[in-house]
Amino acid sequence: MKDISDVLDDNSSDWDDWHWQMRQKPACSDLGNLASLGLVSPEAKQQRRRVGLTPYNVKLLLNLKVTDPKGYRAETLQSFLSPTDKNEKHQWFWAKRHDLISSWLWARLPIPAFLKTLFTGRGSDTSIRALENMYPNTDVVIATAVCARHCSFCFREVGDAQGEAARMTGGMEIVMNAVNAIITRKTPHVLVTGGDPLTRNNQQLRQILTPLVQSETVQVLRLATRLVVDLPMRFYDEELLAMLRDFAQQMKRRHASFRIVTHVNHSCELTPEAVRALENIQACGIEVMDQTAVLHGINDDVATLRELLMKLDRLGVRNYKLYHSMPVEGTEQLRVPYRKFRQLVGELHQWLPGTSVPQANLVTLVGKMPVSPKGRWILPVPFTNRLLCRSFRGEWYLFKDAWDIGRHLREATTALITVVLLLVAIPLLKQSEIPITHRTEQLQTVMRVAVLADKLGYPDAWARQRFIPFVENNTLYIPVHGL
Ligand code: SF4
Repeated sequence: MKDISDVLDDNSSDWDDWHWQMRQKPACSDLGNLASLGLVSPEAKQQRRRVGLTPYNVKLLLNLKVTDPKGYRAETLQSFLSPTDKNEKHQWFWAKRHDLISSWLWARLPIPAFLKTLFTGRGSDTSIRALENMYPNTDVVIATAVCARHCSFCFREVGDAQGEAARMTGGMEIVMNAVNAIITRKTPHVLVTGGDPLTRNNQQLRQILTPLVQSETVQVLRLATRLVVDLPMRFYDEELLAMLRDFAQQMKRRHASFRIVTHVNHSCELTPEAVRALENIQACGIEVMDQTAVLHGINDDVATLRELLMKLDRLGVRNYKLYHSMPVEGTEQLRVPYRKFRQLVGELHQWLPGTSVPQANLVTLVGKMPVSPKGRWILPVPFTNRLLCRSFRGEWYLFKDAWDIGRHLREATTALITVVLLLVAIPLLKQSEIPITHRTEQLQTVMRVAVLADKLGYPDAWARQRFIPFVENNTLYIPVHGL
């Protein structure tokens, strides 16, 4: 293994070669080397999910350590699992575990499906390896289990040989089988992800993407990669850029879209190298979209998120999704409560122009849930065509909605059902006013049962009890209406 100081020379001719960067990962991920640079404690031990860093990642950490303490903290939290996190048992499987006997048994347990979903969710279908499906019309190809950096919060557990990414995908044969299945299924929206698909070489990438680009049935093709910020030199590769440009043009010619989705969590990741990578992609005529996960200690304050989202907006990147942190093994300390997440979403709506605000989502095992900003309400006022709105300043306003026959029919039906239920419930409630002990006493002394017909007329004392059975003089009277 090379000495770490030899590989951190960013003036070397190899520095901009992404293959060279990936080859240096063992030296840059070695805890002894990282401890000698002061990036981890000398007592740090490798965990099941191994640290994964390239020279570029290490150099960025070292630069941030002296120039930007907040950025340094964010990068450290993203790069290393907390030392307090043991090799805990996995909390959450995004993909269904077809390979576990317990999953097989659970699926066959004779209990209602809704109860199973309530406790364990549904997860995505992975009956074809390297192909994941959660939503109608969208299929996901897991093109590889390799990434440049192993993110500490990764729900695919990249860096773990038994992790979800490694389990779900494999060699090119498995990936191509998934691609062919998607084309046969005629899925219109396809996401190629991983791991990071851009860690595949150009030839493999061409092999995976070409059938999808050329398939008449694929309408939107998204390529997910974090190499824009984790290994930007991947996008200095002219051969790759020419290939991506060609794919974008081919899809455009048949009125379809080819997009790149990246993942940035902190503005310190948008280095000059990352900006160059973004501009190279955009120069190919490809739209870049970003997704950001809100993580405690990294970006869970409005100032950090605002700075990041505004910077991305300025760079022409579409802020696509803002994710609540998922329950991933060993990352509890990075998670943000839902209440705080909603509050941040509310504040972002207040501070950012509409073009910069991403769609906020809770990621669950029954799919992504849109999250509305905290404090912003739109409540229909029954039997009017008004909506009661609460603005980001806390002002209330009655907004005139368009005529909505469906809403009024629903309201009328609800009112009708409520009245009927009340008519039934009130007499029952009145009956239950008799103390239990007293009622028991009465029931025990019933000697005779009589049916009362209302047409015969009741004594005055009984009138108020019409239609309610009652006991008097050891007789149970059952009033019947209409006899
Ligand atoms: S780049 Fe994505 S897939 Fe790879 S480790 Fe990070 S979060 Fe996981």
